Amino acid sequence: MVQHLEVNLEVVTQETRLIEKIKLIESVWKRILEQREEEWRQQMRPKVKYFKENREDVLSDLEFEHRTEKGAFEMFTTCPECYQCTLIAEGDYRGICSNTNCEEWFPLTACSVCGGLAIGFRWEGVVCESCEDRFNELVNQPD
Ligand SMILES: [Zn+2]
Ligand SMILES: [Zn+2]
Repeated sequence: MVQHLEVNLEVVTQETRLIEKIKLIESVWKRILEQREEEWRQQMRPKVKYFKENREDVLSDLEFEHRTEKGAFEMFTTCPECYQCTLIAEGDYRGICSNTNCEEWFPLTACSVCGGLAIGFRWEGVVCESCEDRFNELVNQPD
């Protein structure tokens, strides 16, 4: 009986240790992600500043590239802030909203379902708007 209890206690302690370990890993991971996010923000700040000062040049460069590549890429995607299709989707200034009334900036990544353009960080496993719409349609379908 005593022996049995001891074994159980040992298991419990091991489990507690494991949980502690997992919690530690989680908090470290969270810190790494926060750090990455902050790095991204720091990388973006001078770009946003440059964009605001040289808006016309940046946009005409983008247009030129779009024409050269025969429209192989989308120039803009919908901005989650102003809901206009003005969020730059390609090049060095991707993620910056070109709407003068908005000028917010967002991380852009690939949709984890279709690989299309999605807003968020790669490690967040985000889905694009059309995949989300499709999913909502499926969920809201009447029987
Ligand atoms: Zn916007
Ligand atoms: Zn998608």
